Amino acid sequence: MRKAEHDWLRNGEILKLKKQALKKNLEKIDSYVTGEWRRKGIKGLVIFSCLEVDFWQVYELPVGLRSSLIIGDEPHAKELVALLNEFKRFCVVSVSRKKARFFTVGLNEIEEHQGVMVDEWVPDQVKEGEWASLRQSRIARHIEDHVLHHLKDIARLTYNFFVEHKIDRLILAGHKELIPRFRAVLHPYLQERVAGEFNAEPDTPLSEILKRSLLVEKEIQLREEEYLFNKLRNENHEGGLAVIGLRPTIEALMRGQADTLVIGDGQSRQGFVCYKDHYLSVGSGDCPVCGDALHESSDVIEDMIHLALNQNVQIEHLTHIDEFREKDKYGALLRFGL
Ligand SMILES: [Zn+2]
Repeated sequence: MRKAEHDWLRNGEILKLKKQALKKNLEKIDSYVTGEWRRKGIKGLVIFSCLEVDFWQVYELPVGLRSSLIIGDEPHAKELVALLNEFKRFCVVSVSRKKARFFTVGLNEIEEHQGVMVDEWVPDQVKEGEWASLRQSRIARHIEDHVLHHLKDIARLTYNFFVEHKIDRLILAGHKELIPRFRAVLHPYLQERVAGEFNAEPDTPLSEILKRSLLVEKEIQLREEEYLFNKLRNENHEGGLAVIGLRPTIEALMRGQADTLVIGDGQSRQGFVCYKDHYLSVGSGDCPVCGDALHESSDVIEDMIHLALNQNVQIEHLTHIDEFREKDKYGALLRFGL
């Protein structure tokens, strides 16, 4: 950052007022990062700052980002948006025979939603005298009817909650014997979106719910990454629906073939571009569209991500598969083969 600050402030083209404003913003960011901010397990930090209009936003992320300082008229939010898209929002429903608790989990944070608590009466036991004339099994069935009714109520609330909070996935928590029964009464739309389950008591602390939810999330992520990786590998042939490696990936993007851009390593990499024609290349040369010499780009990966975002291409990160992260690094799933 110091170097960027130095370069920018020395740049004669920038007006004096702008320079002063810029200096103030950079000082604030610097004092925040070196002062009050504590890392505590946070791997990525995104700060938006425009003190002139009182705009200051800090996002702490569980994943690392390439360090960069971007100065412009608009917030440079594209990468952040792409990143946030990758982190699915989870809803955790903890069910017991008497109540339900609802939580949302996103970006390593958990929140309990008190407003949707269900606390309906389900009889624990039935007094002997009251049911003296009935056989024990009927008493049991009476209780079970209540439980089923209660589970259906929770299922209905879960559906509303899911839609209202724009949730992607559902995690079920509760007693082992209750979870399958709850799952069975869920709306089919929700059944398809169950990411996993774990045992929990009605009073399991929030931190514990978060810990177990993140384990489920991690497992899901790993499964999805393996699926994506296998798809890349299997379709990476002539006429296939995937490419692997930087050059083929860039070429597929420029042909409008890419459906999903897959990134294993987000480190900066030098490349060549024609910004006018959105032409990217690993090697130097002339732009095939306008014929001008290509500009050197200090980070062709960033350019590639921009190109993908502009084309509405989905961006996925494969961070758990070493082979892809260290060797292939880049790839794309294609809409059509050639
Ligand atoms: Zn050009």
